[in-house]
Amino acid sequence: DEEHQRVRDQFHILTEGDDLPPPINNFADMKIPRPILDYLKKKGIKKPTPIQMQGIPTAFAGRDIIGIAFTGSGKTLAFTLPAIMLALESEARLPLVRGEGPVGLIICPSRELARQTYEGCQAMCTALKESGEYPEIRSLLCIGGINMADQGDVLNKGVHIAVATPGRLMDMLDKGRLNAMNCKYLCMDEADRMIDMGFEEDVRSIMSHFKFQRQTLLFSATMPRRIQDFASQSLVNPVLVNVGRAGA
Ligand code: ADP
Ligand code: MG
Repeated sequence: DEEHQRVRDQFHILTEGDDLPPPINNFADMKIPRPILDYLKKKGIKKPTPIQMQGIPTAFAGRDIIGIAFTGSGKTLAFTLPAIMLALESEARLPLVRGEGPVGLIICPSRELARQTYEGCQAMCTALKESGEYPEIRSLLCIGGINMADQGDVLNKGVHIAVATPGRLMDMLDKGRLNAMNCKYLCMDEADRMIDMGFEEDVRSIMSHFKFQRQTLLFSATMPRRIQDFASQSLVNPVLVNVGRAGA
């Protein structure tokens, strides 16, 4: 559609793929729960960035995504928000029982990044919970150096979203402390760094724990050959969303 393409052009959003979902250039039209919208507004997040305009509706549509956008362009929200929405949808359909989950899994190349991502996700989940209008969405941080007993309550009740580093996640999956049997959403953040750091085998092994057909998202600041190869092996009919700096 010409109007959709006009919006993409205006915000320097390059796309590739079949049946592209339209970009949406305001949060209000994205069917985001009111408490999350209010929380974002309070944080000064009022208008979606270009990667969010195209990435969030594409993720909501259930599509695999390769999202390329420069550092600081708001990639984190583009994959955490859809994970939370998926968790809400899943909870409405079939609530998690004791020990189940996660439904969504986000993998980051470093502990620091995992922690930041988890905290942002957790803040949105808290906003949902405090509204009293939505079910509780529980997230878990799986990184080395964290005592899992501190999060035992979340593990026991069932985890909706796990934010993890590859090594720790593999360990938890292998020991059966977490299982990916109900997982439908897998996001790799900073995929370029992840592959550079040699985590590719770990990620493949993590993928082998999935039982359901999964939605796979890959976010990165750059798109080297190895990411393209990895994506072509691990993603299904993906939508490529590439946001350049204005004029770049
Ligand atoms: P990236 O992962 O692409 O490098 P981040 O997701 O870490 O970028 O976001 C960078 C900063 O921009 C964060 O402080 C985040 O809170 C903020 N941010 C994200 N989305 C928006 C938005 N739509 N409007 C304003 N600020 C935003
Ligand atoms: Mg980032």
